Amino acid sequence: MKLTQDYPKIFLYHRFCEPGSTIWGGISQDEFEWHIERVTEKYEVICFAEFLLRKQRQASTRNCAIITVDDGYRDFYQYAYPVLKKSSVPATLFVTSDFIQQRIWLWPDKLKYIVQQLQSGRYSFEFNHDCFEINTLDNASRLASWMRLSNTCIRLPLTKREMLIKSLSESMGIEVPRFPSKDYEACNWNELREMQMNRIEIGSHTLTHPVLSMIPVDEMLKELNDSKVEIEQMLNGQVSTFCYPHGGENDINDAVVKATAEAGYRGAVHGNPPREWNPFLVPRMGADDDRKEFIWRLCGMEYVTARIKALL
Ligand SMILES: [Zn+2]
Repeated sequence: MKLTQDYPKIFLYHRFCEPGSTIWGGISQDEFEWHIERVTEKYEVICFAEFLLRKQRQASTRNCAIITVDDGYRDFYQYAYPVLKKSSVPATLFVTSDFIQQRIWLWPDKLKYIVQQLQSGRYSFEFNHDCFEINTLDNASRLASWMRLSNTCIRLPLTKREMLIKSLSESMGIEVPRFPSKDYEACNWNELREMQMNRIEIGSHTLTHPVLSMIPVDEMLKELNDSKVEIEQMLNGQVSTFCYPHGGENDINDAVVKATAEAGYRGAVHGNPPREWNPFLVPRMGADDDRKEFIWRLCGMEYVTARIKALL
């Protein structure tokens, strides 16, 4: 613990569900409550904006933890926010503003919707000379099939990605509704306003959730600037923090980081391993229902192993 007390324990969540149930890539309310109990036993929980402020003032961030949540799904409001509110624990929610505005689906959800609607069985789907095997015989195979499709889509330019999703929808005979269905919907602005009054910081996660390093510069600037302006207008407050969509090694480059700083944000998070301190490349650790893994990360062991690896 002492070895890593200067490293921020920043956790990343996406989706939540009701107590005792499971969700792909998400965590149930009771497990989340267990996380919050463990975090608050040992750490001071602050929001990301507060963390950046302390760094800027060279104040101590020792033994601080940060809860961050990406995208802005309504299940955060339904299941996680009540847990945080009950214990008066702050968090930072990064929202994709066109999603909140109910203008778009997040594209991985379209794929998930199709895969989840399929009857149990084995299917094959061809796109651009690539053949995808889709197995929906059990939940794990369904999840693996969705991830294969998602991993292909993430590397495609927007128009190609949409073509793939359309083609999958047609060949599987599953029509994707125009707006996200109940399981995939976003918080609305009123819910965000209420949460903002109760220690939830709202940061930006772009307009449409693109891979910023893959889109033209003018679009990248629009994603950074317009989302900030829209959230600020709708919530009548300042948006000072940002989260890179997808956030992997290749999803961000120097131009994206520079443009994020120039857009007026004070810092940004991603999902890569820690490097030297840069407020626009702040690392986070995933959190799911693996309790052992969570405690490992909570103790800062990820940082210890990263430091050891760097020495090798
Ligand atoms: Zn996201």
